[in-house]
Amino acid sequence: MSVNSESLRKVDCNACTEAAVFPLSGLYIRDCLECSARALANGPLYWESRALHRLTSEYRAVLQRLWGANWRDGHQAVRCWRERIEQARTALPCKDYKAGV
Ligand SMILES: [Zn+2]
Repeated sequence: MSVNSESLRKVDCNACTEAAVFPLSGLYIRDCLECSARALANGPLYWESRALHRLTSEYRAVLQRLWGANWRDGHQAVRCWRERIEQARTALPCKDYKAGV
């Protein structure tokens, strides 16, 4: 059975609901493609590919296992989550926190 990422984004997933508001959430639900994309965005396979400026065979194999023929969509979802995670990190109010100490 092939599943496309668009249909899975509509699945009611508590972890994705939380991550939509708080991208730094560490909660993942198995068998949810969106959670898988978020997990990959935080994982070493994606980071290695990013550092080498090419998709490693290991990273691509995981994308293909999860997204099948649509693995490029999966990679785009991972990149999107990485961007959201980095934006959330830089938005943390460190100065305000220190000022309150
Ligand atoms: Zn999810």
